[in-house]
Amino acid sequence: MMSIRNLSVLNKSIKRSSLGPSMFRYLHDTRKRNDNIPLVPGTEQEGFKNINMDLKKIKNDTNSMQLNFLRELPLRDLFSYIAIGIATLNKPILNACIKVFPYTPMFLIRALVYRIYCGGTNLKEINATGDRLRQRGINNMMLSLTIEACDGKDHIDPDYIVTETKKSLTEFLAPYSINVLRNSEKDINSIPPGYVALKPTGFAKDAAKTLKYFKSDPHYAAKFEELVLRVSDICKMTYNINQDLSKEFPDRKAPFVVAVIDAEKHELQEGVYELQRRMYAKYNQIGKPVSVVGTLQMYLADSANILALEENLAKKNNYRLGLKLVRGAYIHSEKDRSVIHKTKADTDENYNNGISFCIDSILADKANDITIGHLVVATHNAESLKLATEKLNSTQNTENKANVVLGQLLGMADGITYDLIKNHKAGNVIKYVPWGPPIETKEYLLRRLEENGDAVRSDNGLTLLANSVKALFQKVF
Ligand SMILES: Cc1cc2nc3c(=O)[nH]c(=O)nc-3n(C[C@H](O)[C@H](O)[C@H](O)COP(=O)(O)OP(=O)(O)OC[C@H]3O[C@@H](n4cnc5c(N)ncnc54)[C@H](O)[C@@H]3O)c2cc1C
Repeated sequence: MMSIRNLSVLNKSIKRSSLGPSMFRYLHDTRKRNDNIPLVPGTEQEGFKNINMDLKKIKNDTNSMQLNFLRELPLRDLFSYIAIGIATLNKPILNACIKVFPYTPMFLIRALVYRIYCGGTNLKEINATGDRLRQRGINNMMLSLTIEACDGKDHIDPDYIVTETKKSLTEFLAPYSINVLRNSEKDINSIPPGYVALKPTGFAKDAAKTLKYFKSDPHYAAKFEELVLRVSDICKMTYNINQDLSKEFPDRKAPFVVAVIDAEKHELQEGVYELQRRMYAKYNQIGKPVSVVGTLQMYLADSANILALEENLAKKNNYRLGLKLVRGAYIHSEKDRSVIHKTKADTDENYNNGISFCIDSILADKANDITIGHLVVATHNAESLKLATEKLNSTQNTENKANVVLGQLLGMADGITYDLIKNHKAGNVIKYVPWGPPIETKEYLLRRLEENGDAVRSDNGLTLLANSVKALFQKVF
């Protein structure tokens, strides 16, 4: 008998095999592992067998990567992973945890899971997180002050966000990045830059409406200009730091610090794209490393066209592009589902085509002249990370390698990050490190817990628990 799960896997394969020519004009040979599976070479059952074997292998690989990573952790972290494993054991337990989480005292959260997912509440604590990451071979980070001023939370002062973000840049990220560069015995172009993430909805009161109606309503047009000025303030500081440090390290092709503009819900993206373009035009000049990176969500059905449009606009207006490619975080809350690719496989294909195109473009450049100047491959997907790593490992262009960086959220896909560093010689890995006032990071932690709903569906809670207990026993006995 065919299970529903098998049927859905087969349906996905059928859809994938009948996809027309990709929207990408620059379709690369980035065939996915599952595309090699004969759909119906003999019988449908044979197709199922191959698909299941392939999925089983991916699961086994991920499992052993996770165990290897856990084995190297201190006891305190292992207890945290055991707690996360228990919380995500199955759907009812996870739902119960999500319900009690808002009422759980912060000291308990800090004792149990905080340091797995969050960098700290102040710059001193982030420094300690940086030390721990360096011990794992992760040489830089993407700092994100987790304060959001949208969805009715207008108690937050956007100017405070600007001040704190600038402080994190000058007092922590720039000195931290220079310190890594100075003390590393590695090539100057093999150390990734430090990033500061900017969430557009944090830079104006009533930010969602500002980003949505900036073209049609003069009130919001004025507020949009204020939002642009605030973001520009941070981008300018980033640009100046890069200018100064380029004099000290003239052989480095990549930037030292980068301002990254995050992507939001689809209905706000027109405003975000406009913001990104203005920052590129000002701070990403031809002949210099990029200082500003914008985000493109590859789950959007139109994202290949948007990438082509951004490249054309940059060429026409004489500036460079810095890009962070993500799949996209808002699939569950998106009102208009038609704007997103129909299947996960379509999103995956589009994502892999997008990163391949950008990496090829970056590696074709020896100076800092080509339009696409910097890429953050922001994903936890092992297949996409492997694709990017293989491309980087096979290039002769070592100067521009540091312009392609792999990024994952702190506490997510740690086994895969470990494997990239230990077994694939990936030196260009960073972690997205949220930090800020405890109440705000609590909301971030809740989102991570809710996201683990997906993990529960693929039994990751149990695997994580089993691996953490195994690693604990091996350490103690
Ligand atoms: C460093 C970093 C920065 C990030 N910044 C942003 C940001 O600025 N804005 C933002 O929106 N997200 C951001 N994300 C989150 C990102 O968009 C993804 O939600 C998250 O990384 C999970 O996708 P994945 O590529 O890691 O892995 P996977 O687990 O392989 O992919 C899951 C993703 O696939 C897509 N997907 C799932 N099911 C379907 C379906 N049926 N049809 C079509 N597509 C589907 C969704 O995008 C889903 O999130 C960031 C992630 C990282 C690591």
